[in-house]
Amino acid sequence: MRFDVLTIFPEVFPGPLGIGVVGRAIEAGNISVTAHDLRDWTADKHRKVDDIPFGGGAGMVLTAQPLVAAVRQIRFERPGIRCILMSPQGRVFDQTVASELAQEQDILLVCGRYQGVDERARAEIGEELSVGDYVLSGGEIAAMAVIEATSRLVAGVLGSPESLVGESFSEATEGGFEPPLYTRPAIFEDNEVPAVLRSGDHAAIERWRRQQIQQAQRRHRPDLVRCGTTSGGQK
Ligand code: SAH
Repeated sequence: MRFDVLTIFPEVFPGPLGIGVVGRAIEAGNISVTAHDLRDWTADKHRKVDDIPFGGGAGMVLTAQPLVAAVRQIRFERPGIRCILMSPQGRVFDQTVASELAQEQDILLVCGRYQGVDERARAEIGEELSVGDYVLSGGEIAAMAVIEATSRLVAGVLGSPESLVGESFSEATEGGFEPPLYTRPAIFEDNEVPAVLRSGDHAAIERWRRQQIQQAQRRHRPDLVRCGTTSGGQK
C-alpha cells in the first residue's frame, strides 16, 4: 500500500513511521510513505504557500494554487488515488475508518498549516479526516496517526496477524476495549497478577476478561458500553 503526503514540512517524514511495525513494513516494501513538498507546486518565484485571510482575522491561510496544482497532478499520474485533507472538521478517524482505508492501494494525505486551507482547495480535495476534536498546528502528526493505524491492518504488516484479534476496537471486542494485560513477574511490588489468569481455566479467564472490559468501558467510555463487549450484560 502506498501513502503520499503533501506538506510544507516533508522533512518530518517518515519520523516515527520509520521505526517499529510500520518501519519494518516500509523496509519490506509492504508500505511506502512518500512526502512531497507543497512548495514544489508554487507558481510564485518565492515559493510562497500562504496569504492573509479575506474578510480579516488572525493568521495565514494556505493558498489554493499549489494545493490544487499538486492534487491535480498526483490524481492525473495515479488514477484512483484517494485524496484526503487532514482537517479538524473532517469525519472522525477511528478503527472502522482505518479498516476501510486499509482496503485502498493508494492514498494521498494533505496536511494543512496555519489557520487552515483556502476553501477552493478544500473543495478540490473533497474528503476530510479529523483525528479528534482538538486542534493541532498542522496535519503532519494527524497524517502519521492515520498512516500508522491503517498500515497495521494491511495484510503482511504485522509479524503475527493474530495480535490484531481481540485488540481494542476490533471485531472480536465488538468495537470495545481489550482486556487488561499482565506479564511476568507474577508479583510486582506486592501486587499480584489476578489468580484467575494463572488458573488455566479458559472459560473463567474469558468471563473475567469480559467483566474487566465492561467495568473499564463503563468508567472511561460509557459511549462504548452499548456496542462493546457487553453482550453478557447490558445491551
Ligand atoms: N483554524 C482551524 C485549525 C487549523 S489547524 C480551525 O479552527 O478549524 C492547521 C491544520 O492542522 C489544519 O488545516 C489541519 O490540516 C491540521 N489539523 C489540526 N487539527 C486537526 C485534527 N484534529 N485532525 C486533523 N488535522 C488537523
